[in-house]
Amino acid sequence: MLLTISTTYSPATDLGYLLHKHPARIQSFTLSFGQAHVFYPEARTEKCTVALLLDVDSVGLIRRPHGQFAENFALSQYVSDRPYVASSFLSVAISRVFGTALSGKCKERPELVKTAIPLSAKLSILPCRGGEKLLRRLFEPLGYTIKVEQHPLNTRFPDWGESRYFTVTLEKTCSLSELLTHLYVLIPVLDDEKHYWVGDAEIEKLLKHGNNWLAAHPEQESIVRRYLKHQRQLTREALAQLREEDAQETDEAIQAHEEEQFEERISLNEVRLTTVTEALKKCGAKRVLDLGCGEGKLLRKLLVEEQFEEIVGMDVSHHVLKIAQERLHYDRLPEKQKNRLHLFQGSLGYRDKRLVGYDAAAVIEVIEHLDLPRLAAFERALFEFACPRTVVLTTPNIEYNVKFENLQTGLFRHKDHRFEWTRSEFQSWAADVAKRFDYTVAFHPIGPEAEDVGPPTQMAVFTRKV
Ligand code: SAH
Repeated sequence: MLLTISTTYSPATDLGYLLHKHPARIQSFTLSFGQAHVFYPEARTEKCTVALLLDVDSVGLIRRPHGQFAENFALSQYVSDRPYVASSFLSVAISRVFGTALSGKCKERPELVKTAIPLSAKLSILPCRGGEKLLRRLFEPLGYTIKVEQHPLNTRFPDWGESRYFTVTLEKTCSLSELLTHLYVLIPVLDDEKHYWVGDAEIEKLLKHGNNWLAAHPEQESIVRRYLKHQRQLTREALAQLREEDAQETDEAIQAHEEEQFEERISLNEVRLTTVTEALKKCGAKRVLDLGCGEGKLLRKLLVEEQFEEIVGMDVSHHVLKIAQERLHYDRLPEKQKNRLHLFQGSLGYRDKRLVGYDAAAVIEVIEHLDLPRLAAFERALFEFACPRTVVLTTPNIEYNVKFENLQTGLFRHKDHRFEWTRSEFQSWAADVAKRFDYTVAFHPIGPEAEDVGPPTQMAVFTRKV
C-alpha cells in the first residue's frame, strides 16, 4: 500500500522539515499491524515527493483477536485485500509516522506550517464502495482537483467489469496538515471497514480532525456514519456535537486522551470498563461510587445497568466533571435517571462523609495520579473511613510498557502519572492494604496478557471481611 505526496513549492525539499523526515534517509517504523517505510523517490528544489509504504503483516492480521477477516466469508483469510489497499491502517500510519505534521506543528519552520503550498497526493489502490461519484462528493467540496482511475476486476477478462479499486490523485494548494487531516478522516470513510474497535474515542478523533471543515461538508452525515462504522448511537452523538461545534472543549478532551495513544486503546479502555462493570455487578452492589470518575465513561456504562440504584461520580477536577455532565447529557436525562446519578467534586486524599455507606467503589486508573506520600491518606480515607464493602481498583502494569511502540523506554504512559507499578509491587501494596483494613483481595488481569510482562492493566477487587 503506497501513498505519495509531492509538492512544487520552492524549495520543495522543505517538505522534509514539514514531515520531520530527512529527504536523504529511509526510515522504517514498526506498527502493530506491520511496517511503515518512509522515503523520498525524488527530492529536488523544484519538486519533492515523499512516499509512505505500508507493509501489512497479513499473517499477523489473521491472528489478531478481532481478526480482520473473520466476519467476511469462509475464504476471506486467503483472499483479502487488506494488506494491499488504503484503509484505516493507513490512517493509523499517518498519525504515527506523520503525527507532528498532521497536528500542524513544525519547530524548525513554524511559519511554513500555515503556508498553503501546492500539494498532490496519490493513493495507489484505494477501495471505494460507492465508486467515483462518492470520491468526488467527498473531496471536491473540500477544494480538491481529483483524478480517478478505476481498475478492472481482471485485466485479462475486461468483460468481468470494474472493481471497487481506484488509483486517485488529489491536488490542492493548502497546508500539509490540512491535506493529511482530510486523508486521515476520509480514507477509512471510503473503505468503510475499520480494523479496530470503534468507540467513544473515535468521536473525539473525528471531531478533532474534522474541526473547521466537517460541520460545513455537504456529506457530513455519511462521513460521520461511515467513520463510526454505522453505529447509530455514536453517529447521533457525533452529529449532535458537530452541530454544537464546541471545538475548544473537544481539543481539551483530546489532550486528556494522550495516555490512550499508547494503549492501542480503544479496545483496552473498553475491555477495562466492561471488566470493572462486571466486577461491580457480580458483588451485588446497588449503590456505587466511581472515584476519580474523569469524563464519565464508566458512569455511562453503569447507568444502563438497572442493578445500580444510585451511582456517584466524584473527581477532584471541576473541569472533567463538567465534561462528564455534558457527555452524559445530564440536563436532558429523564427524571428517574437523573435521580440515580450524582456528580460532585472532592478529593480522594481527604475523609469525606458523602462517601460513607456505599456498597462498592471503583477507582479506575486513578491511584497512579496521586503523589506517593498522599497514598497513605487515600488508603485511610477510602478503606477506613468510607469503607465500602467492595473496592474495584485498577492501575497500569509498568512491565507491559515495553509493548507500546510509541512509548520511550523509562517513561510512564501519561505525564501526570506519579508512578506505575509492576505486578508484584501492586500486589504487595494491595495485600498490605487489605491486611491493615480487614479486607480480602483478589487480582485479575485486564487486556491481552503478554509473555513475561503480563497484561496492560491490573485490577484488584477488595472485599470487606465484616
Ligand atoms: N476513572 C477515569 C479517569 C481516569 S484519569 C477513567 O478510567 O477513565 C484520573 C482521574 O483522577 C482524573 O480525572 C483526575 O482528575 C482524577 N484525580 C486525580 N487525583 C485525584 C484526587 N486526589 N481525588 C479525586 N480525583 C482525582
